[in-house]
Amino acid sequence: MGKITGFLEADRQDRKYLPASDRIRNFREFVIPLDQSALRTQASRCMDCGIPYCHNGCPVNNQIPDWNDLVYREDFEEASRNLHSTNNFPEFTGRICPAPCEASCTLNLTEQPVTIKTIECAIVDRAWNEGWIVPQVPVVKTGKRVAVVGAGPAGLACSQQLARAGHDVHLYERQAKAGGLLRYGIPDFKMEKHLIDRRVAQMEAEGVTFHTNAHIGVNVPVQNLVDEFDAIILTGGSEKPRDLPVPGRELDGVHFAMDFLRQQNKRVSGESLGNAPELLASGKHVVVIGGGDTGSDCIGTSFRQGALSVTQLEIMPQPPEKENKLLTWPDWPLKMRTSSSQAEGAVRDFAVLTTRIIPNGKGGIRGIECVRVDDKMQPIEGTQFEIKAELVLLAMGFVNPVHEGMLSDLGVEFDPRGNVKADVLQYKSSLPKIFSAGDMRRGQSLVVWAIREGRQCAHSVDKFLMGRTDLPR
Ligand SMILES: Cc1cc2nc3c(=O)[nH]c(=O)nc-3n(C[C@H](O)[C@H](O)[C@H](O)COP(=O)(O)OP(=O)(O)OC[C@H]3O[C@@H](n4cnc5c(N)ncnc54)[C@H](O)[C@@H]3O)c2cc1C
Ligand code: SF4
Repeated sequence: MGKITGFLEADRQDRKYLPASDRIRNFREFVIPLDQSALRTQASRCMDCGIPYCHNGCPVNNQIPDWNDLVYREDFEEASRNLHSTNNFPEFTGRICPAPCEASCTLNLTEQPVTIKTIECAIVDRAWNEGWIVPQVPVVKTGKRVAVVGAGPAGLACSQQLARAGHDVHLYERQAKAGGLLRYGIPDFKMEKHLIDRRVAQMEAEGVTFHTNAHIGVNVPVQNLVDEFDAIILTGGSEKPRDLPVPGRELDGVHFAMDFLRQQNKRVSGESLGNAPELLASGKHVVVIGGGDTGSDCIGTSFRQGALSVTQLEIMPQPPEKENKLLTWPDWPLKMRTSSSQAEGAVRDFAVLTTRIIPNGKGGIRGIECVRVDDKMQPIEGTQFEIKAELVLLAMGFVNPVHEGMLSDLGVEFDPRGNVKADVLQYKSSLPKIFSAGDMRRGQSLVVWAIREGRQCAHSVDKFLMGRTDLPR
């Protein structure tokens, strides 16, 4: 603990954003890092608690008090080493993690939590700038061959760990580039994609072979992998979107959020959009159905494309403004949150059910019909209303992984929610030598959970292949 009285002397100060009117003009990141002196002061607020709840609040169990102390002492190189001992990609989580660690920080009980995520991001950004992050090439190769299917954060973390353990890792990805939802879901204004390219280059130097445009179960038979590899890890995410079965759903103008977001990310990176029709919010009134992260990303993307208005609807009631910390701490509380995208000018409405999409008579749409619901989500009579919309984006979450193709060809067992069945000790599926991790196993979740599962699964696979392992769990 660098400074014993730090938390008594300094208030929480976090990164600020560029003004909304500036940032919606482009798709670049808009978070302004803290300067060196502010960062040091913020790190000094950490109390180095005897029981650091942030350790458990963080799904990868980052050793937060240790690196806060190192930042206070300005030893960023050691802080980076410590941070990377638990997290393969802190520059991803330092940008887009909702930071459950901060909810569980002891200071959050009576005060404002330490700016953990900001400090994490500063450590790793500095480490990249200084050239401290280099490939960790294994000294000894094991001769074992491992296939990982799906290059999202779970597949990337798992592959990096296994390559560092000396295995010959082949990572298969159906898209043209690696990254999963980091690449083709989360918009560039939340996380620029050169950050992924840099990690891919590091992993290639460590011995991971990337096979892109390789859709296992579609253009590459899964049996090829079963025949060729000593272990296979399924990290294909949870990609089946929840639909809205209402009259008018089939009309032109109603689209899944991911079809819209993926196109924009490809547009930014100059990738081909293929034959799919272009989905643009420019000059349109947009309604986003669903109040989560995906919905927020649709809002920010729509504003940047030049939408006239964006309305976001949520079927759940509006959460309380503030949590009762004595009841909720150290857990993640339900409370009203406003994302940076929502703050760019979206209208939000809660406890609203969409009952019909209104056609415009030319194959497109002119609005949606809604009704208010009670706390049992039942429609309240006499509360019907309409909202003008030329584009409706469905962002109501994901049901489970896609079963058709790879998973059904393998005949792997599913859990009751339709995810690949595997436990969190061994990550073993119902089939020999086949493992699963990330959203494909746990359902739609967070990047930090995907990294955790990828790391833990690598530990289990290494043990399965070698009878022992030095990889951390
Ligand atoms: C729009 C959106 C915004 C989000 N924002 C955040 C956020 O801000 N913070 C946060 O923490 N989490 C966020 N999430 C959730 C987070 O992105 C996911 O939980 C995380 O990416 C899951 O990682 P994963 O590696 O398990 O799967 P994914 O990231 O989904 O990656 C799976 C990969 O597998 C590939 N694949 C699938 N099947 C096959 C196959 N048969 N053959 C070859 N490749 C295949 C896919 O193309 C994909 O690249 C967001 C999710 C969405 C949809
Ligand atoms: S990964 Fe997420 S939960 Fe863990 S320390 Fe970073 S911001 Fe907090």
